[in-house]
Amino acid sequence: MRNQPHVKLYIPGPIEVSPETFEAMSQPMIGHRGSEFSALYEQVMPVMRELMGTARPVFLSTSSAWGVMEAAIRNLSSKRVLNCCCGAFSDKWHDVTLRCGREADRLAVEWGQPILPGDLRRTLEGGDYDLVTLVHNETSTGVLNPLADLAAVVRDFPDVMLVVDTVSSFSAVPIEMDALGIDVVLTGSQKALALPPGLAPFAVSERALERAADTPDRGYYFDFLEFEKNAANFATPSTPCISLIYGLAHQLQRIVEEGIENRYKRHEALNAMIHQWGSQRKFEHFAGEGYRSKSLTTFCNNRDLDLGAWNKILRDKYRVAINMGYGKIKGKTFRISNMGDETPESIGELIRILDQSLADLGAL
Ligand SMILES: *Cc1c(COP(=O)(O)O)cnc(C)c1O
Repeated sequence: MRNQPHVKLYIPGPIEVSPETFEAMSQPMIGHRGSEFSALYEQVMPVMRELMGTARPVFLSTSSAWGVMEAAIRNLSSKRVLNCCCGAFSDKWHDVTLRCGREADRLAVEWGQPILPGDLRRTLEGGDYDLVTLVHNETSTGVLNPLADLAAVVRDFPDVMLVVDTVSSFSAVPIEMDALGIDVVLTGSQKALALPPGLAPFAVSERALERAADTPDRGYYFDFLEFEKNAANFATPSTPCISLIYGLAHQLQRIVEEGIENRYKRHEALNAMIHQWGSQRKFEHFAGEGYRSKSLTTFCNNRDLDLGAWNKILRDKYRVAINMGYGKIKGKTFRISNMGDETPESIGELIRILDQSLADLGAL
């Protein structure tokens, strides 16, 4: 085990973290109430704002994304939540909403399908909601929901706020929080940002902060008002994962050097390479045409491969991991990530490995 190379992750999170990023994280510890930490936070703020498309401060939560997904419910809803459900993560958000003791309904579509604006409008007209949850890029199915059109629908209902999970789309495709009138955008460090897990950046609109101020029992750790108050001084409510924030500063520096637009184009091109491989090998897409993710691909196991055996060959012989389906489509689909620091060369190498391993399986 020890002398072998590590298994390189092409699962849709966590993904490969570069040695340079780990090195950037390995800096001496600093106090989180001192000027060094506030300088670090101040340094990451402008690029994070640009990636989120907001003039609001970006908050740094030391948690996984679910912490902020739950927080959005607890800070912003006291009436009724509408959870847009189109896959494992968005379905679970409904469950989490109920566990927070809130009233909630599902706007549910078949897995593999997107949430559509007409359905959202009809549902909002039919109920007395104060909050909509939406997963932008449903990582389980590989569906990229039509965010701009859905946000426009929610804006027609002035009392309804919109929370968007961009965990697996953030920094891979543009997010326009302010222009689309989104109230909360949240993400996580272990997906397209190519950092280890543990940091969940998010931003909250001003009107959502006002709503939070009137919402009882927000708790402390995820209280949006605490984040707002502290961020004004480039600080966090409690001791943050400082090492990860060093890593974030490093990754943002790389993003600036590459150019944000170039980064989006790179992800699109890498995604297209995977799609092309899939069609050559006669794999069908699980996600509907026109609504496919740019940061990962979910293929159907329409060739009835032994996914367990394939997985084992990939891991043991080639030291790479893809994912063999998540939730109720485990075994029926497989997923390949093209997030993070990947290049045409590294995805080209992955494609060679996929073909060699299919040959090993007798399935090329
Ligand atoms: C990975 C993922 C999550 C969960 O993130 P955690 O870091 O495990 O909390 C939520 N939503 C989406 C869309 C994801 O891809």
